[in-house]
Amino acid sequence: MKALSYFSKVILLYVFTVFLALVFSFSVESLSDDSANPSLYLNTFLIFLGLLTVLYPLWSRTIKSPLTELIELTKKLREGYWNTETSSLIYRKDEFGSVARLLQDFSHEFQEKVEKQELILEAVLNTVNYMEEIPPFIKDILNRLNEVMNAKASLFIAEDFHRDRFTLFIASDSAEEEDIALLKEVYKERKKELYTSSEEPVCIKDLKEETVIRAVLFRLEEDTQGAVLLLFKETKYKADENYLKIICQHIISTIRLSHLATTDPLTGVPNRRILEHDIKNHGKLSKRYGKKLSLLMIDIDNFKGINDTYGHSAGDRILKEVTRLIRNNIRETDSLYRYGGEEFAVLCPETDKKGAYELAERIRENIRSTKLWVDKNTYIYITVSLGIANYPEDAEDPQELLVIADISLYKAKSAGKNRSVMLTLPQDKEIYKERFKTERDLRELILKGSTTHHLQPIYDLKKGSIYGYELLFRVIKEGEAVPIGRFLKDIEDLSIMEDIDMITVRYLKRIIKDRKLDPFCFFINISPRSLERGKIIEELSTIPKHIRSRIFIEITERETFLNIESALSYLDLLKDRGFKIAMDDFGSGFSTILQMRYFVKFIDLLKIDGILVRNVSRDPYNRVILESLKTMADRFSIDLVAEFIESEKDLETVKKIGIRFGQGYYLKEDSYSLKFSPR
Ligand code: GH3
Ligand code: MG
Ligand code: MG
Repeated sequence: MKALSYFSKVILLYVFTVFLALVFSFSVESLSDDSANPSLYLNTFLIFLGLLTVLYPLWSRTIKSPLTELIELTKKLREGYWNTETSSLIYRKDEFGSVARLLQDFSHEFQEKVEKQELILEAVLNTVNYMEEIPPFIKDILNRLNEVMNAKASLFIAEDFHRDRFTLFIASDSAEEEDIALLKEVYKERKKELYTSSEEPVCIKDLKEETVIRAVLFRLEEDTQGAVLLLFKETKYKADENYLKIICQHIISTIRLSHLATTDPLTGVPNRRILEHDIKNHGKLSKRYGKKLSLLMIDIDNFKGINDTYGHSAGDRILKEVTRLIRNNIRETDSLYRYGGEEFAVLCPETDKKGAYELAERIRENIRSTKLWVDKNTYIYITVSLGIANYPEDAEDPQELLVIADISLYKAKSAGKNRSVMLTLPQDKEIYKERFKTERDLRELILKGSTTHHLQPIYDLKKGSIYGYELLFRVIKEGEAVPIGRFLKDIEDLSIMEDIDMITVRYLKRIIKDRKLDPFCFFINISPRSLERGKIIEELSTIPKHIRSRIFIEITERETFLNIESALSYLDLLKDRGFKIAMDDFGSGFSTILQMRYFVKFIDLLKIDGILVRNVSRDPYNRVILESLKTMADRFSIDLVAEFIESEKDLETVKKIGIRFGQGYYLKEDSYSLKFSPR
């Protein structure tokens, strides 16, 4: 306001100077003219007053008040009051009016820019997790876009290129039917332009009588294309193609990202996240409307063998084929998911248990009887196992469907694979739930470190002294050291096996430091799964070389003997590193005489299964078998260990047969007692 007050002062000074000049000129005139006029001074004063009353309002109206108002307006703009229309300044015809109108335009543009930025920001912040959330996300953007761009209506279209069928079609809330029809028509006419376009969205402008349509066409994927179209009711529209493109790009990348996060890239079907999401949604509906809901879990049998035999890419091809075969068998309303590696799931709304079983059998039969090509010239046949669960027949709550389908699948596998299983007995559910719970508790105890090892002595029966110790893993539960076999019968499939093996090797590394144990050998059980992964071999390799010849790795279990090629390669590696190998549970279970052909060159010791040793003194048949095993072992120059020696008589018989080593309850620890903490 300083300038204003200076200006006022200048005017006053000017008026005052004029006044003085007048007085002076009158005085001079009166001096030269003798007839002095006394009213002269009064006149001059009146003229001055007159000038002042005329000039001041004029000055105030034309300069002072608009200037003050302009300053106020600018202040308001700065404070974020965008509504310049409330100011009368913009209607003035003078320079102040021009400045105010410029300010108004500027504020509008600025406001629009801010809104546009906000829209982009909001859209970016609004993360979309599921494909299902895409339509509301797009609708939101369209509504805001209308506001920002001052459009009447807008429409988003994404369509399947080949089938010429709209897959996604979303209009802004403001769009009326005729608007939508018009926009669709424009899209149809102009979509050909996409064929020539690159990855970048293309902008088109279309004039239809009184309306302008502005659109961005895009390609979403190779076979999906679409557009965002805006309809303006007046021909005066603002060209802002770049902005429209940015918004469109953002919609496209959000769809792509969401697609990536929810779709399995190999098979193109939704993944486990979506399955869980869908079970929740369908579950709610089924519960509310009393509808049935079924779930199938499908697992390819012996898939690992396919990978191992024909390679990973053949495995991948089979997974794609299986996807196709399952899809061919399900209805439009059913949904297929890839649940995990070679496991699929099918969710069937409004399907009862019987219907689900029939579907499962149809899928199984179809896959079983289809030739699957692993390469150009080779085909194989595979089988699948299926687990079925139904709401409300098996589960009180749809959320339980996954657990129950898992239990059924587990039953299908244990019963010999290549079958569909549904729970028939009400207690089934409880039995298996108990198993899963036990497995979970066991895992927790182990990972918590509640474990120890029992060292069972292995005697040299000829010398009558301890030859070495087998490290037997125990879980401490309520103060008692319990073998895992007592928690669960079949422990072979336990995912925790790899952890158990690692704990055992680390424990071994600690006890071999004890000099008092120097003369002894150690026997450890390592599962084939761990040996295949290789991490355990790295850990074993940190054991000093000179000690390795005292360490026997015991191999056992179905998998070693099923997957001979892989077993041979890790046995080779272990031997190469200087470890000894013992074949466990020989003569029963999975280790059979046939396997000797493959493994004999790696084997240092055969441990005869306890079933053949227990009561051998009273069982003539077992005795004959042991004697023959001894003969065979001698021919191969391999030493034998008899497990489960539980009585003096059995010990005597085993000694008579000439078996060199023995272990069992009867041969208790006598000379050395080990006290080690679990870790
Ligand atoms: P079962 O009959 O008991 O189901 O045995 P399985 O061999 O089918 O099952 P397991 O769970 O032991 O092995 C699954 C295998 O699937 C292991 C893994 O290497 C393989 N796998 C998982 N995902 C893929 C994949 O995307 N491609 C390929 N080629 N193999 C996969
Ligand atoms: Mg499988
Ligand atoms: Mg599996």
